[in-house]
Amino acid sequence: MKYIGAHVSAAGGVDNAPINAYQIGATAFALFTKNQRQWHAKPLETAVIDSFKKRCERYRFTSKQILPHDSYLINLGSPDSEQLAKSRTAFLDEMQRCEQLGLTLLNFHPGSHLQKISVDECLSRISESINITLDKTKDVVAVIENTAGQGSNLGYKFEHLAQIIDKVEDKSRVGVCIDTCHAFAAGYDLRSEKACKETFDEFEKIVGFKYLRGMHLNDAKSELASHVDRHDSLGKGTIGEIAFKFIMQDSRIDEIPLILETINPDIWAQEIAWLKEQENR
Ligand SMILES: [Zn+2]
Ligand SMILES: [Zn+2]
Repeated sequence: MKYIGAHVSAAGGVDNAPINAYQIGATAFALFTKNQRQWHAKPLETAVIDSFKKRCERYRFTSKQILPHDSYLINLGSPDSEQLAKSRTAFLDEMQRCEQLGLTLLNFHPGSHLQKISVDECLSRISESINITLDKTKDVVAVIENTAGQGSNLGYKFEHLAQIIDKVEDKSRVGVCIDTCHAFAAGYDLRSEKACKETFDEFEKIVGFKYLRGMHLNDAKSELASHVDRHDSLGKGTIGEIAFKFIMQDSRIDEIPLILETINPDIWAQEIAWLKEQENR
């Protein structure tokens, strides 16, 4: 069973997200629980929390089908102690918002060294940030997203993800989200069945499918190993259809949210329908 959806709008309140997801035929969705470009947000109101939970129930979204994404400002591996503290506070707030909403996954980008500390030091800081946050919360799994490796962003190698996980104390509450566009831009080929097999075998060897808690299904505008993060609609970009067919038929990728962050929300319903067709082939 595959859960397929998109990163839908939560404009007007997080409780609008499940409706927006239902309307495009989704069986999964992603959302921001606060403005992703701001540090602070007012607390979620009880009425909104209740309405979110009711609508998730009505439209049949359980917490394992929902993959909230944190703010873009957070850098859990920041070389600057003030920025690191600020990021950790904001990340804790994100995780607590998830808890309030009854959600059990929180997707985030690992962090950047900004050319001021080593890769190893940055990865250790990220693990430490996760440990601190997990200690103060109960139910939410920290889901690390792989990146395209733009600038000094880490997480573009499966080894980075493995190294972060290695230093997380509670392994039951850490996982990863693989974004196909980011993987491709980072140098993992997905353009043929053979390439997909090799990339996912490598993922199994270095990280392990047991840690896979979600995926972002995006085609790419950028080239293989370009380290440029530019999404495209499925089948229209440099990755092509094969990768998405492969994913839909791979049983190791069952029962986790598969989220479109493709560039044209007007065709999300079609993209979801197309993905569902590939599953049943
Ligand atoms: Zn993504
Ligand atoms: Zn991206």
